[in-house]
Amino acid sequence: MSGALAGRTVGFVGLGNMGTPMAERLAAAGASVRASDVSPAAREAFGAEVTTATVVASAAEAARGAEAVLLCLPNSDVVEAVVDGGLLDALEPGAVLVDMSSSEPLRTRALAERAASAGHTLVDAPVSGGVSGARAGTLAVMVGGPDDTVATLAPVLSAIGHPRHVGPTGAGHALKALNNLMSAAHLLASSEALLAGQAFGLDPEVMLEVVNASSGRSGSTEVKWPRHVLPGSFGSGFGLGLMLKDIRIALDLVASTGTPSRHAASTVALWSEAASALPPDADHTDIVRWLQGKDTR
Ligand code: NAD
Repeated sequence: MSGALAGRTVGFVGLGNMGTPMAERLAAAGASVRASDVSPAAREAFGAEVTTATVVASAAEAARGAEAVLLCLPNSDVVEAVVDGGLLDALEPGAVLVDMSSSEPLRTRALAERAASAGHTLVDAPVSGGVSGARAGTLAVMVGGPDDTVATLAPVLSAIGHPRHVGPTGAGHALKALNNLMSAAHLLASSEALLAGQAFGLDPEVMLEVVNASSGRSGSTEVKWPRHVLPGSFGSGFGLGLMLKDIRIALDLVASTGTPSRHAASTVALWSEAASALPPDADHTDIVRWLQGKDTR
């Protein structure tokens, strides 16, 4: 196999909305990818889509021969269950663990200490840019960890997106949570304003065109409203429950620093209310439907 990662073996655990296209990028860059997911359906779908990867039944098997094992899992609970449930013991000598999930920074630091006791480095490398960014290989990758390990991982992470070393272990997960706090607040704020504009008689497409050339623009006005809200598809591939998880992590982080948190707290309160009203599989863009009073699909 040719490509920037030819001759390198990478394990990948978590073949969901993000993990599937991310692992596919690694295979396309020439890596030997050993991919796994707890769900047989996810493994099967991945195997059908990425025929050059090797699909295996467990995280421990994904680690065989791999210089790094990348995780793209729902949260810290699952990451810890996978790592402590056999993956750490199965890692090759010197292999690196890379948690690309949006996890909790302090739990990441504690897990990194456990990994270090077993002779392994854990790097956090959460991503932003959504399913479309994962497919295009343009994700922002926020990397936390020691300089030398992060440098070794650069070619692997560059196949997935644009890695930026943001600090020591846990720094990537902290920045990711704070990013999503901003994103969640922007989506609420812009949606309230755009719904009010519509009710006043303004054309939403005209509003977006003008706002996106003005100071009110954000990822919500530039991407989420045009791609997922206006067409009525509400299918970004990023679950509302995952967003709520992220902003709760951010609120804890903000509170722990003693910096102002009233806006963060009200953002979390509104997203929690929406999560209680919407179906468990709601997309995060469904919060607009909730604002409109359309709580169920
Ligand atoms: P997802 O729910 O689509 O995928 C998660 C996958 O993990 C599923 O396939 C599930 O079967 C698997 N899994 C769960 N428990 C497991 C276990 N014990 N062992 C192995 N596999 C297990 O979620 P996603 O949207 O791909 O998100 C993954 C991570 O990336 C989350 O932390 C999320 O917050 C973050 N993230 C998502 C997006 C997005 O747009 N979807 C963007 C940036 C970051």
